[in-house]
Amino acid sequence: MSFSDETRNELTRVIPTARCCRIAELSAVYELDGFLLGRREQYLDFNNSSPLVARKILLLLRGLYPHLPTQVLVKKSRSRRTQMCTVRVLGVNATAKVYRDFKEQSLVDGGDYLRKKCCRRAYIRGAFLSRGSITNPEKTYHLEISTEQTRLAVKILHTINSFGLDAGITPRKGNLVIYLKDADQIVTLLNLMGAHSALLEFENVRVLKDMRNQVNRLVNCETANVDKTVRAAMDQIRDIELIDEIVGLDELPPKLYEVAKLRLENPYSSLKELGELMVPPMSKSGVNYRIRQLREKARQLEGLGPIS
Ligand SMILES: [Zn+2]
Repeated sequence: MSFSDETRNELTRVIPTARCCRIAELSAVYELDGFLLGRREQYLDFNNSSPLVARKILLLLRGLYPHLPTQVLVKKSRSRRTQMCTVRVLGVNATAKVYRDFKEQSLVDGGDYLRKKCCRRAYIRGAFLSRGSITNPEKTYHLEISTEQTRLAVKILHTINSFGLDAGITPRKGNLVIYLKDADQIVTLLNLMGAHSALLEFENVRVLKDMRNQVNRLVNCETANVDKTVRAAMDQIRDIELIDEIVGLDELPPKLYEVAKLRLENPYSSLKELGELMVPPMSKSGVNYRIRQLREKARQLEGLGPIS
Protein backbone atom coordinates (compact mmCIF):
# COMPACT_ATOMS: atom_id res chain seq x y z
CA MET A 1 0.00 0.00 0.00
CA SER A 2 1.34 3.44 -0.88
CA PHE A 3 2.22 5.93 1.81
CA SER A 4 -0.59 8.08 0.45
CA ASP A 5 -3.16 5.30 0.88
CA GLU A 6 -1.88 4.54 4.37
CA THR A 7 -2.30 8.20 5.31
CA ARG A 8 -5.79 8.34 3.80
CA ASN A 9 -6.85 5.15 5.57
CA GLU A 10 -5.58 6.49 8.86
CA LEU A 11 -7.60 9.68 8.34
CA THR A 12 -10.76 7.66 7.74
CA ARG A 13 -10.44 6.53 11.37
CA VAL A 14 -10.20 10.06 12.74
CA ILE A 15 -13.73 11.01 13.78
CA PRO A 16 -14.16 14.57 15.07
CA THR A 17 -16.33 14.82 18.15
CA ALA A 18 -17.77 18.33 17.67
CA ARG A 19 -20.81 18.75 15.46
CA CYS A 20 -19.32 21.83 13.75
CA CYS A 21 -16.21 19.86 12.70
CA ARG A 22 -18.21 16.91 11.40
CA ILE A 23 -20.18 19.24 9.16
CA ALA A 24 -16.99 20.98 8.07
CA GLU A 25 -15.31 17.71 7.09
CA LEU A 26 -18.36 16.49 5.19
CA SER A 27 -18.71 19.84 3.46
CA ALA A 28 -15.16 19.51 2.09
CA VAL A 29 -15.92 16.07 0.63
CA TYR A 30 -19.18 17.40 -0.78
CA GLU A 31 -17.64 20.53 -2.29
CA LEU A 32 -14.82 18.61 -3.96
CA ASP A 33 -16.63 15.47 -5.06
CA GLY A 34 -20.29 15.96 -4.30
CA PHE A 35 -23.38 16.35 -6.35
CA LEU A 36 -26.78 17.86 -5.74
CA LEU A 37 -29.51 16.79 -8.08
CA GLY A 38 -31.70 19.28 -9.88
CA ARG A 39 -33.78 22.22 -8.75
CA ARG A 40 -35.98 20.19 -6.49
CA GLU A 41 -32.97 18.83 -4.62
CA GLN A 42 -33.97 15.22 -4.50
CA TYR A 43 -30.65 13.75 -3.61
CA LEU A 44 -27.21 14.76 -2.51
CA ASP A 45 -24.14 12.60 -3.28
CA PHE A 46 -20.70 12.21 -1.78
CA ASN A 47 -18.33 10.41 -4.13
CA ASN A 48 -15.00 8.77 -3.38
CA SER A 49 -13.05 5.87 -4.84
CA SER A 50 -12.24 4.49 -1.39
CA PRO A 51 -14.82 2.35 0.46
CA LEU A 52 -13.19 3.37 3.74
CA VAL A 53 -13.83 7.03 2.98
CA ALA A 54 -17.42 6.18 2.03
CA ARG A 55 -17.81 4.37 5.34
CA LYS A 56 -16.56 7.41 7.21
CA ILE A 57 -18.96 9.70 5.34
CA LEU A 58 -21.82 7.42 6.32
CA LEU A 59 -20.69 7.35 9.97
CA LEU A 60 -20.45 11.15 10.08
CA LEU A 61 -23.88 11.56 8.49
CA ARG A 62 -25.52 9.05 10.83
CA GLY A 63 -23.93 10.76 13.82
CA LEU A 64 -25.21 14.16 12.73
CA TYR A 65 -28.64 13.13 11.46
CA PRO A 66 -29.73 9.85 13.09
CA HIS A 67 -32.76 9.20 10.89
CA LEU A 68 -31.35 10.42 7.60
CA PRO A 69 -32.42 8.28 4.63
CA THR A 70 -29.23 7.21 2.87
CA GLN A 71 -28.10 4.79 0.22
CA VAL A 72 -24.66 3.46 -0.71
CA LEU A 73 -23.83 2.78 -4.35
CA VAL A 74 -20.67 1.17 -5.71
CA LYS A 75 -19.88 1.48 -9.38
CA LYS A 76 -16.96 -0.43 -10.81
CA SER A 77 -15.26 0.63 -14.01
CA ARG A 78 -15.43 -1.77 -16.92
CA SER A 79 -11.90 -2.99 -16.24
CA ARG A 80 -12.93 -3.42 -12.59
CA ARG A 81 -9.68 -1.78 -11.61
CA THR A 82 -11.23 1.42 -10.30
CA GLN A 83 -14.47 1.97 -8.49
CA MET A 84 -16.61 4.84 -7.30
CA CYS A 85 -18.44 4.67 -4.00
CA THR A 86 -21.35 7.01 -3.57
CA VAL A 87 -23.06 7.84 -0.32
CA ARG A 88 -26.41 9.33 -1.26
CA VAL A 89 -28.75 11.34 0.93
CA LEU A 90 -32.32 10.81 -0.28
CA GLY A 91 -35.40 12.98 -0.26
CA VAL A 92 -36.17 16.68 -0.50
CA ASN A 93 -36.26 17.45 3.22
CA ALA A 94 -33.15 15.49 4.18
CA THR A 95 -31.15 16.90 1.30
CA ALA A 96 -32.22 20.46 2.05
CA LYS A 97 -31.24 20.11 5.69
CA VAL A 98 -27.73 18.79 4.98
CA TYR A 99 -27.19 21.35 2.26
CA ARG A 100 -28.30 24.21 4.51
CA ASP A 101 -25.89 23.09 7.23
CA PHE A 102 -23.01 23.09 4.75
CA LYS A 103 -23.88 26.57 3.56
CA GLU A 104 -24.13 27.95 7.07
CA GLN A 105 -20.83 26.35 7.92
CA SER A 106 -19.00 27.73 4.92
CA LEU A 107 -20.42 31.17 4.45
CA VAL A 108 -19.29 32.91 7.55
CA ASP A 109 -19.56 36.70 7.64
CA GLY A 110 -20.26 36.68 3.93
CA GLY A 111 -16.90 35.02 3.34
CA ASP A 112 -16.10 31.58 2.07
CA TYR A 113 -13.86 30.44 4.90
CA LEU A 114 -14.36 28.58 8.09
CA ARG A 115 -14.23 30.72 11.18
CA LYS A 116 -13.22 28.18 13.80
CA LYS A 117 -9.81 26.56 13.88
CA CYS A 118 -11.22 23.14 14.79
CA CYS A 119 -13.44 23.23 11.70
CA ARG A 120 -10.62 24.37 9.44
CA ARG A 121 -8.59 21.32 10.49
CA ALA A 122 -11.56 19.08 9.76
CA TYR A 123 -12.09 20.78 6.40
CA ILE A 124 -8.47 20.16 5.37
CA ARG A 125 -8.84 16.51 6.43
CA GLY A 126 -11.97 16.20 4.29
CA ALA A 127 -10.22 17.81 1.34
CA PHE A 128 -7.27 15.43 1.70
CA LEU A 129 -9.62 12.43 1.91
CA SER A 130 -11.22 13.55 -1.36
CA ARG A 131 -8.35 14.84 -3.45
CA GLY A 132 -5.15 14.65 -1.45
CA SER A 133 -1.98 12.65 -1.87
CA ILE A 134 1.39 12.47 -0.21
CA THR A 135 4.59 11.11 -1.76
CA ASN A 136 6.58 8.46 0.08
CA PRO A 137 9.12 10.53 2.04
CA GLU A 138 11.86 8.07 0.96
CA LYS A 139 11.50 9.60 -2.51
CA THR A 140 10.72 13.22 -1.94
CA TYR A 141 8.79 15.55 0.36
CA HIS A 142 5.52 16.42 -1.34
CA LEU A 143 1.91 16.69 -0.24
CA GLU A 144 -0.85 17.99 -2.48
CA ILE A 145 -4.59 18.50 -2.84
CA SER A 146 -5.94 19.19 -6.31
CA THR A 147 -9.22 20.41 -7.75
CA GLU A 148 -10.46 21.78 -11.03
CA GLN A 149 -12.56 24.41 -9.22
CA THR A 150 -10.72 27.70 -8.75
CA ARG A 151 -12.92 28.89 -5.87
CA LEU A 152 -12.23 25.71 -3.90
CA ALA A 153 -8.52 25.75 -4.69
CA VAL A 154 -8.30 29.24 -3.22
CA LYS A 155 -10.40 28.20 -0.22
CA ILE A 156 -8.15 25.19 0.50
CA LEU A 157 -5.02 27.27 0.04
CA HIS A 158 -6.26 29.94 2.46
CA THR A 159 -7.45 27.38 4.96
CA ILE A 160 -4.06 25.60 5.01
CA ASN A 161 -2.12 28.84 5.14
CA SER A 162 -4.31 30.17 7.97
CA PHE A 163 -2.22 27.84 10.18
CA GLY A 164 0.97 29.73 9.37
CA LEU A 165 1.93 27.39 6.56
CA ASP A 166 3.21 28.47 3.20
CA ALA A 167 1.43 26.21 0.68
CA GLY A 168 1.87 26.98 -3.00
CA ILE A 169 -0.58 26.65 -5.87
CA THR A 170 0.11 25.67 -9.45
CA PRO A 171 -1.95 24.59 -12.50
CA ARG A 172 -1.53 21.03 -13.77
CA LYS A 173 -3.54 19.34 -16.53
CA GLY A 174 -6.70 21.36 -15.98
CA ASN A 175 -6.42 21.16 -12.20
CA LEU A 176 -5.15 23.55 -9.59
CA VAL A 177 -2.73 21.87 -7.26
CA ILE A 178 -2.19 23.12 -3.73
CA TYR A 179 1.10 21.72 -2.49
CA LEU A 180 3.64 21.64 0.30
CA LYS A 181 7.25 20.64 -0.29
CA ASP A 182 8.86 21.54 2.98
CA ALA A 183 9.22 18.55 5.33
CA ASP A 184 8.50 20.59 8.48
CA GLN A 185 5.35 22.04 6.93
CA ILE A 186 4.14 18.62 5.77
CA VAL A 187 4.63 17.33 9.32
CA THR A 188 2.60 20.28 10.65
CA LEU A 189 -0.22 19.55 8.21
CA LEU A 190 -0.26 15.81 9.02
CA ASN A 191 -0.54 16.82 12.66
CA LEU A 192 -3.36 19.28 11.94
CA MET A 193 -5.29 16.58 10.10
CA GLY A 194 -4.65 14.07 12.90
CA ALA A 195 -2.56 11.62 10.83
CA HIS A 196 -0.28 10.76 13.72
CA SER A 197 0.97 7.36 12.53
CA ALA A 198 1.78 8.78 9.10
CA LEU A 199 3.53 11.66 10.84
CA LEU A 200 5.70 9.27 12.88
CA GLU A 201 6.60 7.23 9.82
CA PHE A 202 7.39 10.41 7.89
CA GLU A 203 9.65 11.63 10.69
CA ASN A 204 11.45 8.27 10.97
CA VAL A 205 12.22 8.25 7.27
CA ARG A 206 13.33 11.85 7.47
CA VAL A 207 15.73 11.19 10.35
CA LEU A 208 17.25 8.19 8.54
CA LYS A 209 17.54 10.18 5.32
CA ASP A 210 19.19 13.11 7.07
CA MET A 211 21.61 10.75 8.77
CA ARG A 212 22.46 9.04 5.48
CA ASN A 213 23.05 12.43 3.88
CA GLN A 214 25.30 13.49 6.71
CA VAL A 215 27.30 10.26 6.53
CA ASN A 216 27.64 10.66 2.76
CA ARG A 217 28.77 14.23 3.21
CA LEU A 218 31.39 13.12 5.73
CA VAL A 219 32.59 10.32 3.45
CA ASN A 220 32.84 12.69 0.48
CA CYS A 221 34.64 15.23 2.59
CA GLU A 222 37.05 12.59 3.90
CA THR A 223 37.69 11.25 0.39
CA ALA A 224 38.41 14.76 -0.84
CA ASN A 225 40.87 15.31 2.00
CA VAL A 226 42.63 12.01 1.38
CA ASP A 227 42.87 12.81 -2.32
CA LYS A 228 44.40 16.15 -1.51
CA THR A 229 46.95 14.64 0.89
CA VAL A 230 47.93 11.92 -1.58
CA ARG A 231 48.25 14.37 -4.49
CA ALA A 232 50.41 16.69 -2.40
CA ALA A 233 52.61 13.75 -1.28
CA MET A 234 53.10 12.67 -4.92
CA ASP A 235 54.30 16.19 -5.82
CA GLN A 236 56.69 16.15 -2.87
CA ILE A 237 58.11 12.77 -3.86
CA ARG A 238 58.68 14.02 -7.41
CA ASP A 239 60.60 17.02 -6.02
CA ILE A 240 62.71 14.82 -3.76
CA GLU A 241 63.51 12.37 -6.57
CA LEU A 242 64.56 15.26 -8.78
CA ILE A 243 66.92 16.56 -6.10
CA ASP A 244 68.30 13.05 -5.61
CA GLU A 245 68.91 12.65 -9.35
CA ILE A 246 70.67 15.97 -9.87
CA VAL A 247 72.60 16.64 -6.67
CA GLY A 248 71.98 13.60 -4.45
CA LEU A 249 70.03 13.64 -1.20
CA ASP A 250 73.28 13.29 0.78
CA GLU A 251 74.09 16.86 -0.15
CA LEU A 252 71.04 18.22 1.71
CA PRO A 253 71.33 19.76 5.19
CA PRO A 254 70.56 17.07 7.86
CA LYS A 255 67.03 18.33 8.72
CA LEU A 256 65.99 18.48 5.05
CA TYR A 257 67.57 15.11 4.41
CA GLU A 258 65.61 13.55 7.27
CA VAL A 259 62.26 14.93 6.01
CA ALA A 260 63.05 13.86 2.42
CA LYS A 261 63.94 10.34 3.50
CA LEU A 262 60.82 10.00 5.66
CA ARG A 263 58.62 11.25 2.84
CA LEU A 264 60.03 8.68 0.41
CA GLU A 265 59.54 5.91 2.95
CA ASN A 266 56.01 7.03 3.94
CA PRO A 267 54.28 8.24 0.79
CA TYR A 268 50.78 8.11 2.34
CA SER A 269 51.49 9.85 5.63
CA SER A 270 50.27 13.32 6.40
CA LEU A 271 52.73 16.07 7.34
CA LYS A 272 51.65 15.72 10.95
CA GLU A 273 52.42 12.00 10.87
CA LEU A 274 55.84 12.65 9.28
CA GLY A 275 56.57 15.11 12.08
CA GLU A 276 55.79 12.43 14.65
CA LEU A 277 58.25 10.03 12.96
CA MET A 278 61.15 12.49 13.27
CA VAL A 279 63.71 12.35 16.09
CA PRO A 280 63.02 14.50 18.00
CA PRO A 281 59.40 14.91 16.77
CA MET A 282 58.62 18.05 14.80
CA SER A 283 55.42 20.07 14.49
CA LYS A 284 53.34 19.94 11.31
CA SER A 285 54.33 23.51 10.45
CA GLY A 286 57.99 22.61 10.98
CA VAL A 287 57.69 19.74 8.51
CA ASN A 288 55.76 21.95 6.13
CA TYR A 289 58.53 24.57 6.23
CA ARG A 290 61.10 21.94 5.24
CA ILE A 291 58.86 20.48 2.54
CA ARG A 292 58.64 23.99 1.07
CA GLN A 293 62.41 24.29 1.15
CA LEU A 294 62.71 21.00 -0.72
CA ARG A 295 60.19 22.27 -3.22
CA GLU A 296 62.12 25.47 -3.74
CA LYS A 297 65.33 23.55 -4.24
CA ALA A 298 63.67 21.30 -6.83
CA ARG A 299 62.32 24.38 -8.65
CA GLN A 300 65.78 25.93 -8.71
CA LEU A 301 67.19 22.74 -10.13
CA GLU A 302 64.50 22.73 -12.78
CA GLY A 303 65.62 26.24 -13.64
CA LEU A 304 62.32 27.79 -12.66
CA GLY A 305 63.69 29.94 -9.85
CA PRO A 306 62.31 30.22 -6.31
CA ILE A 307 58.56 29.96 -5.82
CA SER A 308 56.80 33.09 -4.85
ZN1 LIG B 1 -15.37 22.74 14.71
